[in-house]
Amino acid sequence: MARVYNFSPGPATLPEEVLKEAQTQLADYKGSGMSILESSHRGKEYSAVHEEARSNIAELLNLTEDYAVLFMSGGASTQFALAPMNLMGEGGRADYVDSGSWSTKAIKEARKIGEVHLAADVKDASPARMPKPEELTLDPGAAYLHLTSNETIAGTQWKTFPDTGEVPIVADMSSDICSRTFDVNPFGLIYAGAQKNLGPAGVTIVVIRRDLAERAAGHLPTLFQYRTFVEKDSLANTPPVFPIYIVSLVTRWLLDKGGIAGIEQQNRDKAAKLYAAIDGSDFYRGTAAADSRSDMNVTFRLAEEELEKTFIEEAARQGMKGLKGHRSVGGVRASIYNAFPVEGVDALVDFMKEFEKKNG
Ligand SMILES: *Cc1c(COP(=O)(O)O)cnc(C)c1O
Repeated sequence: MARVYNFSPGPATLPEEVLKEAQTQLADYKGSGMSILESSHRGKEYSAVHEEARSNIAELLNLTEDYAVLFMSGGASTQFALAPMNLMGEGGRADYVDSGSWSTKAIKEARKIGEVHLAADVKDASPARMPKPEELTLDPGAAYLHLTSNETIAGTQWKTFPDTGEVPIVADMSSDICSRTFDVNPFGLIYAGAQKNLGPAGVTIVVIRRDLAERAAGHLPTLFQYRTFVEKDSLANTPPVFPIYIVSLVTRWLLDKGGIAGIEQQNRDKAAKLYAAIDGSDFYRGTAAADSRSDMNVTFRLAEEELEKTFIEEAARQGMKGLKGHRSVGGVRASIYNAFPVEGVDALVDFMKEFEKKNG
């Protein structure tokens, strides 16, 4: 089996070791005579998987007992609604930063629930970027400040999170969770669809400060309340057992690599190689401002759309797939999450040089 270099934004490449381990265990999980896919979510085998996934995430993020790790369904997009439903409070309001496609979607949902104040709006900035601290107008009475730590489509990333005082930060970290170290204390809620950095689609990782899980009004449907997931350890109903199993393997793999501190430098180095290739030529043009460039999604353009199409097609023929930019912005996007191998980045850099020589 020849594996390609998969630059897809999500679902994204998984560590090959994890796929092999899952394959080995698929039909007969650890001698139980059945697959983990077929095992009871309350049985001994799955309970250990569930607990390992939970404790690995807590260890990776260095969480104190003040935080709970939850496994939910519906993707990050469902969290766009659940976060305000649970945290805004009756007649409450929240601050949102609009930094691009994903935060715009989160804002749209929050507006259905309560009052949204835009703390900053840089969604149309060109080049794409995150707001500077002095551009933020923070409401001290806000229930929380929502931000998107990494805008997967624009290729922008918060480098330093804003100081919000007592107001907790709610963050969509779908595309950079567990890719870099950060201080979790200012955060009240972190959510991430697993399919970029932590596993397959089907499970959403939620980290919540326990006291905030108590804020939701009791009349919310039971499974819409974070409280339920905290109290029942995400087992109030059948959880997505197989995605959580893969998350347990991916997080174990990450811990074996030295945790987030271990992967962070590698992620920086991978991104730096691509940005150096872009900056070192007039043929390629980065679309994100230098101080907001994402280490996860590297976005760039060529002079003409026709040339971009050829670039993407030729790269695919050479085993580099998934480089097409999001349909809303076009261009090229190389998504290089934790599990994306450095050899794949080197291959793309070589390809970029060759392509420029031929077409420049
Ligand atoms: C992919 C992505 C989402 C959407 O996730 P789903 O799990 O498909 O709902 C939301 N936010 C960001 C930042 C993303 O990258």
